[in-house]
Amino acid sequence: MGGEKEIPIQSFKRTKIVATLGPATNSYELIFDLLKSGANGIRLNFSHGTYEEREAQITWVRKASKELKKPVAIIQDLQGPKIRLGDFEDIINVASGQSLTFAYQSDYERSGHIPLQYDISKKVKRGERLFLFDGRIRTTITSVSEGVVHVRAENDGVLVKRKGVNLPDTDFEGDVITSKDKEDVAFGSNNDIDYVAQSFVQSAHDIVKLRRILRNLGSSAKIIAKIETSSAAENIEEIIKETDVVMIARGDLAMETSPESVPILQRKIIELCKKYAKPSIVATQMLASMTDRPEPTRAEISDVATSVILGADSVMLSDETASGQYPIESIKVMKRVVNYTQEHTLEPIMTSFANVDVKYSIGRAIPKAIIGLAKEVKAVAIVAETKSGATAVNISSHRPTVPIIAVTSSPRVAQQLAIVYGTKSYVQPDDRLQATKLTNLLLRTKLFKKGDIVITASGQQPGVVGTTDTIKVRAL
Ligand code: PGA
Ligand code: MN
Repeated sequence: MGGEKEIPIQSFKRTKIVATLGPATNSYELIFDLLKSGANGIRLNFSHGTYEEREAQITWVRKASKELKKPVAIIQDLQGPKIRLGDFEDIINVASGQSLTFAYQSDYERSGHIPLQYDISKKVKRGERLFLFDGRIRTTITSVSEGVVHVRAENDGVLVKRKGVNLPDTDFEGDVITSKDKEDVAFGSNNDIDYVAQSFVQSAHDIVKLRRILRNLGSSAKIIAKIETSSAAENIEEIIKETDVVMIARGDLAMETSPESVPILQRKIIELCKKYAKPSIVATQMLASMTDRPEPTRAEISDVATSVILGADSVMLSDETASGQYPIESIKVMKRVVNYTQEHTLEPIMTSFANVDVKYSIGRAIPKAIIGLAKEVKAVAIVAETKSGATAVNISSHRPTVPIIAVTSSPRVAQQLAIVYGTKSYVQPDDRLQATKLTNLLLRTKLFKKGDIVITASGQQPGVVGTTDTIKVRAL
């Protein structure tokens, strides 16, 4: 805990960084460097890799996190109904106006039907769009019969085996948890996972289903809803109310809606997340050019800065850290942009509370009062006791400019809070004076200085969820 050389409290990075692991970062040393350079969350992409690899990675993350005295969130990202082409020899040339046929696991050379790794024939309907190879070829479904899907191509192009397929108009009717996902969730529940990220969510009901599965497995993982379908964009408010965290998964989202609609959606989602006190993660292509170049583009820097200004909780790297040539540099660049932007932003990060009609429960009214008080007395930090993490997340949703020092008896909660805006967590036993004792400790470790003003938030019933009722102003 603590340590001699704490970073000054004003320099804490408020917007957090999530890094995806992959071949470029598959060792203890590289994971240590990712975390040391600024990563707060680690995403394990369950579309690839074996359970043995996952177990090793989880062990490495926990070891590095312990070494660095820094709680880290581990995210299990489920594949979901990500549809890919199957295998075929050569490439397939496609001309505009041409008819193509697709079938589940078919043999292209023998049948002429292009193979798919997922049986879509019972889900899709005539008139729906089917995009291939990241949208390089756009088609419309003309008919479906006996398991074969017929489409008409709208442009020229080539098809390469195993490339992705998007069905922006198709309703999966709540069938977004595949049998592979179920196995993966069971694996995760035995393997120290903090979050499960659900892919291709379409409605709040999908989250309810996953939550039921997690509960039955006795998992303490929270849920991240990946917003990457047009139905999710339409049902966004219901989804945000139901989930624990939201990821704006801009890669597939751009395919399923349109690329130009993503910036507006991103803004809307971050605002709604603040309104409902649910953390948000902005994902995909943030520093894409750094996959094979040491310098980001100006536009990429601007994208990261914009997410900070909008008040996202976390920004995420995918290929940059998973398979790129400059994984550690990417984290360092991201951290520099986050720090510069939070220091120089012209106005405090906007919250949208003024014009919303959220009826404040006590659990949300107290955090709001704490922020006002912290400003009035020029506090250097808010030290908050939190059993489930909810108190810290609620305070964070008001986007204070001072750090939230969360104190909890649960390592899981401390890890989950690692990707929450402005929050730094410490694990301490439940105690009537938990926040006071931690404040004293942080004074000894010199994170706080004599004369600093600190707000503490605690409850009369230590360790009981939702009982924060005591706010103190302390001059140290
Ligand atoms: P993925 O999700 O990397 O798992 O596809 C993120 C996205 O679609 O942007
Ligand atoms: Mn995706």
